[in-house]
This record gives sequence, C-alpha cells and structure tokens, in this order.
Amino acid sequence: MSVLIVGSVALDYLETPFGKMERALGGSATFCSIAASYLTEDVRCVGIVGADFPEEHITYLTSRNIDLLGLIRMAEGKTFSWGGRYHEDMNTRDTLYTDLGVFEHFHPVIPEEWKKSEYVLLGNIHPALQMEVLEQIEDPRLVVCDTMNLWIDISRKELREVLKKVDVLILNDEEARMLTNERNLIVAGKKMIRMGPKVVVIKKGEHGAMLISKDNYFSTPAYPLEAIKDPTGAGDTFAGGFIGWLARSNDVSVANMRKAVVYGSVLASFCVEEFSIDGIRTLNTDALTERFTTFRAMCGF
Ligand code: AMP
Repeated sequence: MSVLIVGSVALDYLETPFGKMERALGGSATFCSIAASYLTEDVRCVGIVGADFPEEHITYLTSRNIDLLGLIRMAEGKTFSWGGRYHEDMNTRDTLYTDLGVFEHFHPVIPEEWKKSEYVLLGNIHPALQMEVLEQIEDPRLVVCDTMNLWIDISRKELREVLKKVDVLILNDEEARMLTNERNLIVAGKKMIRMGPKVVVIKKGEHGAMLISKDNYFSTPAYPLEAIKDPTGAGDTFAGGFIGWLARSNDVSVANMRKAVVYGSVLASFCVEEFSIDGIRTLNTDALTERFTTFRAMCGF
C-alpha cells in the first residue's frame, strides 16, 4: 500500500557526548521515509530543500526506493536546518537554533497521482501545513500524525483542528503532558482520544512506548541498547516504522497496531546507535527480524 509522508528535510547540526556532526542529513520526513522504506515499497515523500542540498542525499533516498516526486528542490535558498545539543543523559536536549530557510514559505503540494494515497503520515511540521496536506488527500485509509512541543506551545489551536481529522496521534510523554495538562499518561491518553484520534501512541524514550485506545492498552519496553550515540530522529523513525508496518500488512486494527509499535521501536533502536541517519542507512531484513524476535521474547511471560 502507498504511504505518503510529509515533513521537514534538513541539514542538521548535532552535538552529543559522543561527538559532533555538521550538515547531517535529517528532518522528520527523511527519518520517517527511510524507516517506512524497510517495511513497504511505495513510500512517497513531500517536502522542500534548498540549493545547498547535496545531490548524494537525493541519490541515497532514491536508492531506498523513496519516491521524491513531492520533494520541491529550490534553485535558491537554504535547506531547513536544526541544531541540537544533547545532555549527558542523552534523554534531554537543547535546540541551539532552527533556521527555516526555504521552509519559511513552504506549502505542500500533493502531486495529482498521490492524492489517493492510502496511508498518510503527517510528520512533525507546523499543524497548518499538516492541515493543508489533509485538504488535498482523498479518502485515506489511515492518517497518522506526529507533532512536537513547539507546536503545542505556539500553535495549539491549529493542532487541535488537525487532531479532529487524524486516526492515530504519536507524541512523547512530555508532549502528551503539555497538550493535556495531565501528569498521568493514562489520563492524558484518554483525554487526547476525546480530541479526535482513535488511538494515541506515547513514546517514553528509553522506557519504551504505550498505545491507548478507547478500550485497549498496550505497552512495550525499548529495545535494550548498551550504546547510544545520537537520539536525533528516533521519534520520526518510530513513526515511519509504525505506519510502514500498517501499510505493508494493510490492516489498521488496534491488534495489528501493537505489532506496528514494536516495528517502530525496532527501527528507532537502530537509528540511535549512530549519528544522523547512519544507523538506518543500510539495514538487512535479518537484523530487523532478529530484533523483532528479541522483542517478542522480552515481552512474553
Ligand atoms: P526527533 O529527534 O524525532 O524529534 O526529530 C529530529 C528531527 O526533527 C531533526 O532532524 C530536525 O531537523 C527535525 N526538526 C527539528 N525541529 C523541527 C521543526 N520545528 N519543524 C520540522 N522539523 C524539525
């Protein structure tokens, strides 16, 4: 099944206790698309890059079979860039800067032949842009929405409008608390379901993820890793793996979403092992299957 992904495509500056990286390939659409491409064949990426975006990244994304028909390549201007510095515990980070570049005037245009995309992932971008995408898509089978603290803070009203139109909301624990003003995540989950989505997935970093629907609850730990180099993109990779599995199986039942949470977690575990996209640049199916099987064993009792 087709998966349409909209979000940022970025050249990031990353700083973690393990090193620094400049002009690192990043962005929500980038991580989501790469992750989804390991699970399903028809991945469609919508975004924008500037004149400085290296050709090698286009070649790489295309080699992953990611369709870039919806990626606008501007002849002038700079690619979106985000700078982040992680604290010693790697769980918290400071945003050093956000340079919008060509993103400032971006309005997603969905190519005619993509308007009937079955699965839609609204990656982390301004909710008004997420809404513009939804207005162009005809009758999708499933809409998944990711967001971040920035939009809850400055565009809460627009975000609430988007939430009325999505099936699944993915966000982290801090964002869930911010959006609902609730400390308890179960209470927060139920409250978010009343805002529109049928299912809410709350990511808890190294403590795993939980899925909440009206009458379903599921929780998994994170894959136990001994070395984490750069957590950037873990959330987006999770969302890409989540929707990638649902599109591959073409089954949007809550029972199947439990598996999707595990696929998201498995892909995110590879992402954080290296800087930028390097942890998910080339993965073989055996490695994915092995971690999926470990997950199953780890959660059974
Ligand atoms: P994550 O670690 O999953 O939260 O995602 C990190 C990625 O999000 C980085 O590669 C950034 O380029 C991108 N990003 C950071 N801030 C924004 C923003 N305001 N809008 C869109 N993308 C962003």
